[in-house]
Amino acid sequence: MSGPTDNRDGVEPVELDAVVIGTGFAGLLALHVLRNDLGLDVRAFDDAPGVGGTWYWNCYPGARADTEVTAYCYSFDRDLFDTWRWSERYPRQPEILAYLNHVADRYDLRRSITLETRILSATFDEDVNRWLVVTDAGERLAARFLIEGVGLLSSTNMPAFPGQESFTGEIFHTARWPQSGTSFAGKRVGVIGTGSSGVQVITEIAPEADHLTVFQRSAQYSVPARHGAIDADFLASIRADYEGYWQHVRNSITGFGFAESTTPASAVSDEEREAIFEKWWNHGGGFQFMFATFSDIGVDLFANNAATDFIKRKIAETVTDPETARMLTPTDLYAKRPLCCDGYFETYNRDNVALVDVRSDPIVEITPRGVRTTNAEYDLDVIVFATGFDAVTGNTLKIAHTGRGGVDLADHWAHRPTTHLGLMTSGFPNMFMMFGPMGPFTNQPPADEVQIEWIADAIRHLQKTGMDTIEPAAETESAWVATCDEIGNSTLFPKVDSWINGANVPGKPVTIMFYMAGLGAYAERLREAKDNDYPGFRFTAPARTPA
Ligand SMILES: Cc1cc2nc3c(=O)[nH]c(=O)nc-3n(C[C@H](O)[C@H](O)[C@H](O)COP(=O)(O)OP(=O)(O)OC[C@H]3O[C@@H](n4cnc5c(N)ncnc54)[C@H](O)[C@@H]3O)c2cc1C
Repeated sequence: MSGPTDNRDGVEPVELDAVVIGTGFAGLLALHVLRNDLGLDVRAFDDAPGVGGTWYWNCYPGARADTEVTAYCYSFDRDLFDTWRWSERYPRQPEILAYLNHVADRYDLRRSITLETRILSATFDEDVNRWLVVTDAGERLAARFLIEGVGLLSSTNMPAFPGQESFTGEIFHTARWPQSGTSFAGKRVGVIGTGSSGVQVITEIAPEADHLTVFQRSAQYSVPARHGAIDADFLASIRADYEGYWQHVRNSITGFGFAESTTPASAVSDEEREAIFEKWWNHGGGFQFMFATFSDIGVDLFANNAATDFIKRKIAETVTDPETARMLTPTDLYAKRPLCCDGYFETYNRDNVALVDVRSDPIVEITPRGVRTTNAEYDLDVIVFATGFDAVTGNTLKIAHTGRGGVDLADHWAHRPTTHLGLMTSGFPNMFMMFGPMGPFTNQPPADEVQIEWIADAIRHLQKTGMDTIEPAAETESAWVATCDEIGNSTLFPKVDSWINGANVPGKPVTIMFYMAGLGAYAERLREAKDNDYPGFRFTAPARTPA
């Protein structure tokens, strides 16, 4: 453990203004704004041995962002943007991790960060309006504000196959990859899962491994990323109008920085539609293919079918073995987080790569020698779980939160997770969740900035009005959930099982978990709340006279 001095049982908790949980994009930003801009006494905690969150843990081969990096970074400091040099359009994990470490140094954040320390519980003490926060090192902290940046995609989803402990080879999860790396040379590798991490790790491991077996549950609509250098003209255009570029990002649906289409797929001829798909297929990028081609792929069946037909034809043209091509061709709608990866489908043309469809031939058990499905046994030296995350709520619910009246967050969310504005939940005052449930479905760093500005304004509002706490009223939260449901149900996303609606984790409520109207509309809702003095929020006066 590193960081400031701690206290132990029997000692009064350390008094702070705020505790920040997590030191990824969200937590580092929260610490910077609350400590350096608002002048609060803040400490941040992370259970990882280094800062960076996602980009610390996901050091598997092939890990990259799929947002163009000119929008996958902070914008609040123009000099940071101008002086940091990215080498690629979609940077690899080490480069993003280096950037976040640079951020920690640049704003002198490390002195307020305690690493390798997990927050176990947070209990709201109504007598004093403070959160009592307990760490796994036994430290106790009393803080007025709790800011959680615990990660949308951070709590690993590790299916428990019978016999797993008997396997004599190595087992890895992509999001808990050994920091020292590992070699696949001469090894028989099995990858379970073909989501975003799966397509990346499969494509990277295949050329190195002796043999690779991919166990696929869901075929994917993956499009090329077209990795390469950042377009110099594009970068120059951002520098020429920095404010304009970021305003465009913040007012867009996806926050990805490209021009989103306003044309429905049915508004153009078949030939024009094909040409537009081809143009964006060659340009690269998953969100670009879904949102820059046409305006209605996520909401309209005709548009969705047009996109899937195009991708299916590309799969058929690329994959030489017809049976493998059939297995790789999705049959559901194109309504998950869109994937992109260069060379993914081409990988299956390699002699050393085999594909197993675990829907028709399920994994029965893991044996000492490898993986046994209903029909066959696969001898392996390494098994890679690319099985993703218990997304959105996974890490939040691992912390034992107790709010007003002794209510546990797990009970408050027993049927489904609920928030107001994706940020706060009723009965849990002064607790702010960055990318909590019912937050925006967008590129994250610009949305983090929108959210932390709102949190900072809410704290300033409390300071100005002399109030002690803020939280949404229960009916305000219900109204936001109804809004999210209405918008979500008008899209095609709930019709497909994925982590977006919780369907990837057995036993998890399958429900709308995002505000799907886009970053621009989301930022507008936050602005409205602030400009109108927080309608639908409850405030309480100080519970005791400050000493
Ligand atoms: C391979 C990969 C590629 C991605 N690419 C993109 C992309 O291109 N664009 C995009 O928008 N998003 C992308 N994402 C999503 C990515 O997670 C976010 O963009 C962003 O990095 C999340 O930052 P965060 O600070 O919210 O959370 P995280 O980076 O997940 O950080 C949360 C941290 O909090 C720690 N933590 C959690 N609970 C506790 C606790 N109780 N006590 C102490 N510490 C705790 C976690 O261990 C973690 O270190 C990608 C994700 C992955 C896995």
